[in-house]
Amino acid sequence: MKAVVYAEYGATPVVTEVPAPKCPDRGAVLAVRATGVCRSDWHAWRGHEPVALPHVPGHELSGVVAEVGAEVTRWKPGDRVTVPFVCGCGECAYCLAGDAQVCPHQTQPGFTGPGSFAERVVVHAADTNLVALPDSVGFVSAASLGCRFATAFRALTAHGELGAGDWLAVHGCGGVGLSAVMIGVALGARVVAVDIAAPALELARSLGAEHLVDAAADTDPAATVRELTGGGATVSIDALGSPATAAASVRGLRRRGRHVQAGLLLDGPTPLPMDVVVAHELAIHGSHGMAAADYPRLLSLVAAGTLRPELLVGKVIGLADAPAALAAMDHPPAGAGMTVVEL
Ligand SMILES: [Zn+2]
Ligand SMILES: [Zn+2]
Repeated sequence: MKAVVYAEYGATPVVTEVPAPKCPDRGAVLAVRATGVCRSDWHAWRGHEPVALPHVPGHELSGVVAEVGAEVTRWKPGDRVTVPFVCGCGECAYCLAGDAQVCPHQTQPGFTGPGSFAERVVVHAADTNLVALPDSVGFVSAASLGCRFATAFRALTAHGELGAGDWLAVHGCGGVGLSAVMIGVALGARVVAVDIAAPALELARSLGAEHLVDAAADTDPAATVRELTGGGATVSIDALGSPATAAASVRGLRRRGRHVQAGLLLDGPTPLPMDVVVAHELAIHGSHGMAAADYPRLLSLVAAGTLRPELLVGKVIGLADAPAALAAMDHPPAGAGMTVVEL
């Protein structure tokens, strides 16, 4: 089968023939139909996260079940599916409680094994991790859900408990942040978007953000958020993942507000104003993807047209152009939208 492979960190990825994967007893082999190009793939390619070399990237995927293992009971060839970027083992206490997104034995296509920049990809523990796609949700839309959109959805619903009329502050208007803006608006919240790039803020406005805060020009974006919202946001998300955006997100909250950390904070320990957390009884949540079991609510909103993840797709390309698209993540232009590879 064809796949995009890189032999060394940072080496130019190439489209080449590789052996088709074998199906694990509890897993499935999917025929990939669409797969998103994500900055996490770029981080692995650059060597910021270790992967086994040579490596096939890709973790935001949708496709059709081609083969299932002997122990799989819920799926059959031909089923249209997508999959969370964190796959649970299906057997531990966390998975059995519905929290596969924090499974200690998690697998991730494109990180712990070969990914979906390929004609076929293996998903482990298929009964736990595959998600059925409604007929009305296309493969490109589904691939655009897998990482940023599902992450933002769980952050705002499970952790933020965002409700109609609440103020939502979104710090960082990249993929996760713009998804959060769209989801917040769909849930009836009033949204303040914060970023340093004008094109990203304009996109946030086009998705329904009521106020924009230019953090490049504003010396205290948190104070501006508190002012615009009459005392602070009910829910605030750091969608970027930096010490500055995490602290600003917490400082922009109203009393009893909820901060959700979705940006990965790859640079390590991050100081937060815990004095304010105590005095204002703030809640601090970490959010890491979303388990397959939680996808049906999200997918029903997509099928109904309430959420339109495809609005965040900037470009659809073929597998031959995937290596260049991955390398282009060195300098992703703000507001360009996500790139999806269609097979
Ligand atoms: Zn598990
Ligand atoms: Zn991703």
